[in-house]
Amino acid sequence: MSLFSPYICSMQVEQSLKNYINGELVEPLNGQYIDNVEPATGKVYAHIPSSDAKDVESAVQAAEQAFPLWSNVGVKARSEVMLKIAAGIKKYQRELAAAESMDNGKPVALAELIDIPRAHDNIHFFATAAEHFASESHHMENLAINYTLRRPIGIVGCISPWNLPLYLFTWKIAPALAAGNCVIAKPSEVTPLTAYLFSKICIEAGLPKGVLNIVHGLGPSAGQAIVEHEKTKAISFTGGTKTGEHIARTASPMFKKLSLELGGKNPNIIFDDADLANAVATSVKASFSNQGQICLCGSRIYIQEKLYHKFRDKFIAAVAKLKVGDPKENDTNIGAVVSKEHFQKVLNHIEIAKDEGGQVLFGGQAVKGEGRCKDGYFIAPTVIEGLQPNCVTNQDEIFGPVVTLNKFKTEEEVLALANNTKYGLSATIFTNDLKRAHRVAENIDAGIVWVNTWLLRDLRTPFGGIKNSGVGREGGFEALRFFTEPKNVCIKY
Ligand code: NAD
Repeated sequence: MSLFSPYICSMQVEQSLKNYINGELVEPLNGQYIDNVEPATGKVYAHIPSSDAKDVESAVQAAEQAFPLWSNVGVKARSEVMLKIAAGIKKYQRELAAAESMDNGKPVALAELIDIPRAHDNIHFFATAAEHFASESHHMENLAINYTLRRPIGIVGCISPWNLPLYLFTWKIAPALAAGNCVIAKPSEVTPLTAYLFSKICIEAGLPKGVLNIVHGLGPSAGQAIVEHEKTKAISFTGGTKTGEHIARTASPMFKKLSLELGGKNPNIIFDDADLANAVATSVKASFSNQGQICLCGSRIYIQEKLYHKFRDKFIAAVAKLKVGDPKENDTNIGAVVSKEHFQKVLNHIEIAKDEGGQVLFGGQAVKGEGRCKDGYFIAPTVIEGLQPNCVTNQDEIFGPVVTLNKFKTEEEVLALANNTKYGLSATIFTNDLKRAHRVAENIDAGIVWVNTWLLRDLRTPFGGIKNSGVGREGGFEALRFFTEPKNVCIKY
């Protein structure tokens, strides 16, 4: 296997993106393409392959050819190539950040600070984590020794959403590759660009052909073909709860391993004794980063009654300072939401909130962009109060720049309110009472709890949700366990 390749990739965005199959950039076999729209301008700027089962079939064949080499070459050789891919992400970080911002609508400053560095870290982390991964042994005194072998699964499918495109795409494929699997991956059809540029980086890094195959296209055609192919033995999916349910219905009867990272409706709880300045500043980020389009955003804010008015006034004052506008401008805090459909969905939710008796304290409407952004999909950060716990606005995932403010009296009451949804992804608590922090963290229905902070991530920790927010855990050795099959070997003395 050569670790070096004479190919130097170009980060230029072509009119038509291509699939990455068997080490090459190829057109979809059916010749069909989908428009790719820049959310900040509302204009089509490229076309992406509308792949189908035939492209998936050729990706699976390539992966099948590559698997024996990639799984047997050893962890060190895999790690070396992956570190070269990580270095490629660093080398092209500016181009990748600009592409992510154009494709998704997020501020370029956010892509430079979060998305692209994290994509690099994902690959780097798993390239090295695999070298530290160990399996167990169980000693039966005077009788036998058991040891657990962990072998790669084979060909696996990785399907990711549009909100953190390269960040979540690499979060899945990195552990899959590090563990020795060959991958068929599909980025969201809404934000395919950085995955396309990533395929060029993989070629430049000398990733052996067929090890990673990237098939672009729509969920029901390209995505479904990956899930239902008999040779993809595990599916790692991040996206909406409804799609996750559909995927589980297809994959479970085929006895595939499944990791599902789904939607959320996360509580953000502020107790009377919290550090107010930190609670306000962190809650603004937890509400509106990436236009509120992060599965971990805290969209239900609960404030203890003594602090309610003070928090509300300071929160609104901080929100009023956020600049909505062209994602290319460095001082923009809130860019465009990802698509016209999503723009309409979020605005519709704001109307539902009003019908439900909510008072809009800030925002509540679309924002007209200027110049090149006049047809872009901009929505003001929106803060609503006066809603009931069971209303649609407090129950449904809106996945946009919309939060509700809710008052509570006691710890028991807020725990019941926080747990009163079908979701259980993350929760944020602001308090200076250590015992309370531990108590609430233990009793809240969530896979991830932050205390006095938000989105602080250590890649070694388990990541995922409970209830309708998902099944299984990503991160650290959890992900390496998911992408390997344990086999017990028992040797009698
Ligand atoms: P989505 O479910 O519409 O799409 C996600 C991916 O699934 C896309 O690539 C899509 O093409 C594909 N897909 C759609 N139908 C498919 C099918 N039948 N078979 C196979 N693949 C199919 O989600 P989205 O709108 O792209 O993303 C937003 C959602 O993702 C939100 O609900 C958000 O909470 C969730 N999300 C969850 C996490 C997490 O870690 N829990 C992280 C980010 C986003």
